[in-house]
Amino acid sequence: MKRDPDCIFCKIVEGAIPSFKLFENDATLAFMDINPLNDGHCLVIAKPHHPDLFDLPPALLAEVALSLARVARAVRDELAPEGLNLLQANGRAAAQSVPHFHIHVVPRRMNDGASLNWTPRPGDMKAIGQLAERIRARIG
Ligand code: AMP
Repeated sequence: MKRDPDCIFCKIVEGAIPSFKLFENDATLAFMDINPLNDGHCLVIAKPHHPDLFDLPPALLAEVALSLARVARAVRDELAPEGLNLLQANGRAAAQSVPHFHIHVVPRRMNDGASLNWTPRPGDMKAIGQLAERIRARIG
């Protein structure tokens, strides 16, 4: 399994540093975030060390998604939040602080003050259409 000796999440996977584990299987691990945005904030990670989405094999992303679905339902059933965000950061510009692939599960309440929401403003439809064409061509 790929690992990085300096990675804090690899150390959690190995049990070298403690965590509040929620769920584990061969491919994935879920544990509580120790700097929670809201009560119940937790993380679902791939066990092998892949820094970001682009390094992560798609089949492993699917494994993370299956674990995520279980964990998010448990969080919902226990905390009954009014909403829930899944957040996933890739790169410093996206505010990724731990370069080991993970997805945040963040329970939300109305007016909880979390600054994740933005005000939608209508885009330039011509530019949106042109970008869609360019991205579509790359998906193939
Ligand atoms: P990100 O900024 O998207 O890379 O998220 C990394 C998350 O990992 C942050 O929300 C941190 O609070 C969390 N975190 C960092 N170290 C630990 C740790 N030892 N145990 C649990 N969560 C951690």
